Amino acid sequence: MSAAAGTVYLVGAGPGDEGLITLRGAELLASADVILHDQLIGPRALEHARSDAELIDVGKIGGGKQVPQEVTNELIIEHALAGRSVVRLKGGDPFVFGRGGEEVSACLERRISVEVVPGVTAGIAAPAYAGIPVTQRGVSSAVAFVTGHENPDKPETQIDWPALATFPGTLVFYMGVRSLGRIAEALISGGRPSQQPAAVIERGTFPGQREVFGTLATIAQVAEAAEIKAPAITVIGDVAALAEGIGWRDHARPLAGKTIAVTRARAQASELAARLSALGAEVVEAPAIKIEPLSPALPDLEQYDLLCLTSPNGVNELFGALRDARDLAGLTVAAIGPGTARALLAHGIKADIVPDRSVAEALVEALVDVPFERVLIARAEEARDVLPDALRARGAEVEVLALYRTVAEPLDDETRAAAVGADYATFTSASSARFFHQAAGTLDGPRLVSIGPVTSEQLRVLGYEPAIEASEHTPDGLVAALIADAITR
Ligand code: SAH
Repeated sequence: MSAAAGTVYLVGAGPGDEGLITLRGAELLASADVILHDQLIGPRALEHARSDAELIDVGKIGGGKQVPQEVTNELIIEHALAGRSVVRLKGGDPFVFGRGGEEVSACLERRISVEVVPGVTAGIAAPAYAGIPVTQRGVSSAVAFVTGHENPDKPETQIDWPALATFPGTLVFYMGVRSLGRIAEALISGGRPSQQPAAVIERGTFPGQREVFGTLATIAQVAEAAEIKAPAITVIGDVAALAEGIGWRDHARPLAGKTIAVTRARAQASELAARLSALGAEVVEAPAIKIEPLSPALPDLEQYDLLCLTSPNGVNELFGALRDARDLAGLTVAAIGPGTARALLAHGIKADIVPDRSVAEALVEALVDVPFERVLIARAEEARDVLPDALRARGAEVEVLALYRTVAEPLDDETRAAAVGADYATFTSASSARFFHQAAGTLDGPRLVSIGPVTSEQLRVLGYEPAIEASEHTPDGLVAALIADAITR
């Protein structure tokens, strides 16, 4: 091996749901210099990558653009020989209809070292997400993975169709949607019962997964009527009828089938987006705002006796500016709500005061019995003046320190259309409502979900009545209110 050559990692990305990559796979993605990936990987799989990693799409999608295998092999080798750490990220498992074997031998021929990281294959995962176990005690004790790419009518087919027809167990076809009719015919004429249950799962484990059920005799028609397209897995065998009892996903997923736009800043959207998609929603991330740090010089904190923080962003910016956490030691610290208090706790500070409702008015009330003379309010530039005005009215000397401002983030046409076409649009602040409205031009369409009264008021100012207002003004409260609404429709 050339001493300088990098290693090639052949990594299975799993079938689509980004949670289904292995720990080893995610770890390698996070350190790779170059990632050559397929198109059949989850949209967020590449979020593990270093921001400076080179991403190369060598995707092949049924009928579409094809990067020839030889070119892919050459690219892998070229980058490895340049001493870079190369991840070849493949949908599902690299060795299941993935031509992974060829890529490994191409590397080894050039004396480049390779590590293979298996992945969760679509043939198991897509049925599982549809409630179909590919084997089941008493029902099916064997499973065969078969490519549906070969035309059973052609004499050169490498598949022994009569043997498959009598295979005593589940048949799982990859790549077969377009030849489903021919496959079913070949199996029936080989003696497989035409009444045997069958299912096709499209985009298994992705947010938009769809599945259809039928029998060997009907499945091709059923799939065609539903306009099922690649990527899809076909399951033929008695296990396909188990989905009714084992279709677990809809129970755990009250937001299944709902599209939800998340308008908060990209840096904060991911937690809310992840919660919503775990509940089954298809999330459209449409960040209409972003945080622009103002990085002001901090005043001498010793001169204050009370510090008020009104957002998690404010907390993070404050700690970015702080020289030493002990500078906060002498201060009473008030947080506007649990999210801000959590952000403080993450920096090792337990807030002294946290009102139940995350609004300025509630914080003013919570401070009624607290003695203070000099107050520092660290917050966004554009925040309301309710808090400083109320504290001044109590005779305190109040200084407002603007740590950041929220500014508009442009949305591309596709994101804007997807967000406006969503079932719900969520707003976690007045500024996200204002800037989203500005970027989208309208709020007509989705049911508008507001985190609390201030955001709702902003929506009304824009001419829209929120369909839902969270009673607990936190992202969790917003999710709870959304679920309550979704299950009634
Ligand atoms: N190595 C991959 C398979 C690659 S072949 C794996 O182990 O999963 C490509 C075929 O896999 C597609 O035509 C389709 O049949 C199947 N496939 C891949 N991802 C899928 C998904 N999310 N849902 C359904 N089928 C999928």
